[in-house]
Amino acid sequence: MKRRIIAGNWKSNTTWTEAKQLVEELSRMTTGQDINTRVVIAPPTPYLAAIRSGLPPMIALAAQNCSANDTGAFTGEYTAGMLASVGVKYVIVGHSERRAMYNETDEVVAQKVRQVLDAGLYAILCVGESLEERESGRHFDVVKTQIEAAFTAQIGKEEANHVVVAYEPVWAIGTGKTASDEQAQEMHAHIRSLLDEAYGEVASDISILYGGSVKPGNAAGIFQGEDVDGGLIGGASLKAEDFMAIIEANSEWTTAS
Ligand code: PEP
Repeated sequence: MKRRIIAGNWKSNTTWTEAKQLVEELSRMTTGQDINTRVVIAPPTPYLAAIRSGLPPMIALAAQNCSANDTGAFTGEYTAGMLASVGVKYVIVGHSERRAMYNETDEVVAQKVRQVLDAGLYAILCVGESLEERESGRHFDVVKTQIEAAFTAQIGKEEANHVVVAYEPVWAIGTGKTASDEQAQEMHAHIRSLLDEAYGEVASDISILYGGSVKPGNAAGIFQGEDVDGGLIGGASLKAEDFMAIIEANSEWTTAS
């Protein structure tokens, strides 16, 4: 069964002291709550192992990236297997910042998804179009190409629900502009139909998250889309109260539906 998920991408933010404080606040706020949503946090990589040891069971740990290769002479890289060995469960792959700033092609993203699944972890595969691609009407094709390259062309039916898709229109990330509730649902339905073509009924087990300037004030509207199973949250995941409000918005929708 697909899960409702809220994942927080902290990017390259927080000192170690701030990170510990944020985890403490989130732990306090979530403990004992009847939350019908999988909560995932992706702190900076150097903090992962230490954060893992104090994390309540209802919060899962994610990494923001991993190597496209297995172990070996790859200075500065860390493998999906290493992340698994310190208790990481999810790895964000193909975030638009990595595609744009570190030249991650669909081929590299595909290799990373493979590494993540081989390590027994879940991949959060980010896809999404630029503003120029949307304005020229190519957004559905762009997302189709990304989904095919890193997901449906290489991952078999039996592993398909180990991939979570995060639709993140590039023009909405960190800009304060968000897709309308209708634009989000429309693209999520498109993604679901691509997964349906590839995997049949397994498609309904795959979680599809929306990301791009989700805040407490717009979360509930976005999450009520039939094919929207939660969110990947950047800026608002750095404030425990805001992140908690977004978790609650997703969780409440589940209860109501
Ligand atoms: C992100 O970086 O994945 C993201 C969605 O960022 P923000 O919520 O800040 O737009």
